[in-house]
Amino acid sequence: MPVTVNPDLQAIVDRITADMRGREDRGKVADYIPGLARVDPRHFGIAIATHDGRIFSAGDATTAFSIQSVSKVFALTIALGKVGDALWKRVGREPSGNAFNSIVQLEAEQGIPRNPFINAGAIVVSDVILSGHRPREAIGEILRFVRDLAGDDDISIDDDVARGEAETGYRNAALAHYMRSFGNIEHPVEQVLGVYFHQCALAMTCIQLAKAGRFLMLEGQHPESGFNVVSPTRARRINALMMMCGHYDGSGEFAFRVGIPGKSGVGGGILCVVPGIASIAVWSPGLNERGNSTLGSLALEKLAAATGWSIFNERDPG
Ligand code: GLU
Repeated sequence: MPVTVNPDLQAIVDRITADMRGREDRGKVADYIPGLARVDPRHFGIAIATHDGRIFSAGDATTAFSIQSVSKVFALTIALGKVGDALWKRVGREPSGNAFNSIVQLEAEQGIPRNPFINAGAIVVSDVILSGHRPREAIGEILRFVRDLAGDDDISIDDDVARGEAETGYRNAALAHYMRSFGNIEHPVEQVLGVYFHQCALAMTCIQLAKAGRFLMLEGQHPESGFNVVSPTRARRINALMMMCGHYDGSGEFAFRVGIPGKSGVGGGILCVVPGIASIAVWSPGLNERGNSTLGSLALEKLAAATGWSIFNERDPG
């Protein structure tokens, strides 16, 4: 199926939202982080920011939610800006095939996490962002970066969520200490985790998130200033990582069903990038057994089918 030229996106997102609203099987809200356990599973929102500056949205697209691991895309972008390709000495870029918080591969692979989107990899990325900063400054840098990308200063960090994660984050602490024993964490573990938990606690709406992802559909260019946030090569590579590793051990299934680079989070959000065409955010808090939003994944599958946006579809050779 070729890409549909000028699909009626408002009609499509309205139709998908009505369909999702009627579904009973929504998965299970993450309950290992206290602030997430309280979220109403009936939410569903979707927003699409297109290459020509338009926004299409439906459902709860203006309700803020905890973006959790979607933040790993923005943190990776900052870390690459700081240390460039040297990052790849400390973090791999292969799919893990393991759960997001798994520790098993780390022993065999000498404390080098498989990729920057599993928790261990993201904790190393936080360590890189912390270099030369106090934790508060590093957190401020991440927040300012995301606000700038989205063109929206109302984005904030939910301190309650961050605190709850710090109180219950035994696994993340174990991952960080374990990597430190291999010399792959340079700063005190509490500081690194502080940065990581606050980054995960970014609260954003679907519209803000879709806008923050626009640079990745625009070959790295900032949509408003026109400056390069990252080079076109780096934008392509971040998209490739999202395609291969963005849904933990469900990444293959997501590529199979949707075919668009995406990053999910346990708050139920997913950010997807259709290069040259659109940046999409969906949110529904119920998760499937792999920790990815049940209805969010389904909505993206339907969107890809309605628009032909799978990156494996025929493109106009131009
Ligand atoms: N902050 C969460 C954790 O570390 C992020 C997990 C996720 O969204 O996949 O457990």
